[in-house]
Amino acid sequence: MTSSDYAAVLEPTDLPCPDWCGQPSGHGFDSEVSGGSGVLARWHEVSVGTIATRRPGSEGESGKVYVDLCSEELAASNAGPILPPGIAPHIVVDGESTHLSSGEARQLAAALLLAADALERL
Ligand SMILES: [Zn+2]
Repeated sequence: MTSSDYAAVLEPTDLPCPDWCGQPSGHGFDSEVSGGSGVLARWHEVSVGTIATRRPGSEGESGKVYVDLCSEELAASNAGPILPPGIAPHIVVDGESTHLSSGEARQLAAALLLAADALERL
């Protein structure tokens, strides 16, 4: 994923990002928790790997699988406090294709190992 995948900023903030976040520093809250709670949400994330996939028998790229480290931040307002005090970063695998060749599966496995190593360092 890239920052262009995000929805428009709902609420700007001066709250800092975790040092590992790959988004623009202090990116704003882009959603509100459903149910009219007024709780704002933003995702901190950094890309670990992107695997371009190709459907068997076809030419060219047919999709992508993304491996990211992510953490959701919830806040009562754009000035905090953060609710809860931090959701642990985790690995997210997302993509447009679940058809992987052996080579693509190895690339995904390598990206997951990198993500696991990075997660342990956070
Ligand atoms: Zn961030």
